[in-house]
Amino acid sequence: MSDDHMTPDAFRRHGHDMIEWIARYMEEVERYPVRSRAEPGDIFNALPAAAPETGEPFEDMMRDVERILMPGITHWQSPNFFAYFPANSSGPGILGELLSAGLGVQGMSWLTSPACTELEMRVLDWCVELLGLPQAFLSGAGAGAATRGGGVIQDSASSATLCAILAARERAQLNESATGSGSGGVGPTGHGSMGAARDHLVAYASTESHSSVLKGMRVAGFSDHQLRTVAVDGALAMRADDLARQMERDRAAGLIPFFVCATIGTTSSNAMDPLPAIGNAIRGPAEPTAEPSHAPVWLHVDAAMSGTAAVCPEFRAMHCGLEHADSYCFNPHKWMFTNFDCDCFFVRDRNALVRALAIEPEYLKTAATDVVNYRDWQIPLGRRFRSLKLWFVLRHYGVQGLQRRIREHVALAQDFAGWVDASSSWEILAPHPLNLVCFAHRDGNDRTRAILEAVNASGGLFASHTILAGRYAIRLCVGQTHTTRRHVEAAWAAFAEASRAADVS
Ligand SMILES: *Cc1c(COP(=O)(O)O)cnc(C)c1O
Repeated sequence: MSDDHMTPDAFRRHGHDMIEWIARYMEEVERYPVRSRAEPGDIFNALPAAAPETGEPFEDMMRDVERILMPGITHWQSPNFFAYFPANSSGPGILGELLSAGLGVQGMSWLTSPACTELEMRVLDWCVELLGLPQAFLSGAGAGAATRGGGVIQDSASSATLCAILAARERAQLNESATGSGSGGVGPTGHGSMGAARDHLVAYASTESHSSVLKGMRVAGFSDHQLRTVAVDGALAMRADDLARQMERDRAAGLIPFFVCATIGTTSSNAMDPLPAIGNAIRGPAEPTAEPSHAPVWLHVDAAMSGTAAVCPEFRAMHCGLEHADSYCFNPHKWMFTNFDCDCFFVRDRNALVRALAIEPEYLKTAATDVVNYRDWQIPLGRRFRSLKLWFVLRHYGVQGLQRRIREHVALAQDFAGWVDASSSWEILAPHPLNLVCFAHRDGNDRTRAILEAVNASGGLFASHTILAGRYAIRLCVGQTHTTRRHVEAAWAAFAEASRAADVS
């Protein structure tokens, strides 16, 4: 037999080598310059212009990984990576990914692998308990009731936000057609003739919300002006009074507020939007007996990075008011040691989501009814077996192990903030409730920018920047799996050193 395929035996051999390679990478990652020094085009030009005519030995591929690709890698798994947000990974996370690839399951329907669906349901329910989220998000909650919640793994927080917008739009348009106040009726399928009403819908998010909210609105077919930007306070958190004012003005103009995205831990500065006040602004003054005078506004809470902190009860206050939320997401792929991609998305009413996304062509019909078909909870049809890695991570660390790691990251960020505060050259630019510190040199934007560039160019660490109220800020985010005190101390020393070097020159 002339076999083009890799035999199980060859796979075993290369697989062992690959695990060895990755383990060595874990041991040595700290030695690489954290931010790649490649120039644009370096990697592209080093690769052949066409695929090989005949198959090549696996050893040659790994040689090119080292020779060509490694110089173009920015080392997110370096303990000296403090930029953007973490995309942390871990041994159990990587092995879960490998097993998912090995099984090669496509989990679009319950039938296409019951374990893929049911493990995901179970693990997402675990996360509700793990973070102390509202019970309404449990898959089992409200069984038989009109609304029934549940969780699903999305590829990213951006997809979760898009799905929330689509579910909110669906609910708002059904509502409009039911009350007869909208300009578009509902077609026989509940879809189709809703275009007219869509023009009247408006959404709200703060000036500090993630760019994925605007992107989601665009993908959902709205124009940019249908997303209102809500003002923030001195702590860069959404001003609920401004939200209430804008919704009132829009209603007076005949528009229909349908969606609010609040953020727990904004990307720029880790600001926490006030969920209780936002909930009140959306629901209006509590009048339990009165019929609601308008369609319910969907509240989505984006806690992409910071949600993970809620594994520690002492950080759960940030979730106060979450009972107002229709949906919520956080990314285990940011700060919970689970390889990208893994966003956990929870809804209070799965029907709204499924109504927006379910289409059942004949070739997908199955005999099994009353099962979850996760294809109806997301944009693509196909889906990977992503709950495996999350399950491995949760079982490897256990709740207490996760709590220890998260507490350590937060404590290190707080120590770093203390050093900044105590220095006469530097200052803190925003509240730092968790693992992100935004700070600047007192000499101003140019000086701060120059220091950050010098420190990043040295290769010893990688931090990123943002602009806060017109000021250039360095963002130091502590969350890489293996970051310890030694790395955070070295980071502070590097900034202090770069600042002194600039003083003498
Ligand atoms: C990182 C981040 C996102 C985007 O996350 P993806 O999963 O990459 O889409 C969205 N919102 C917030 C607040 C974030 O910090």
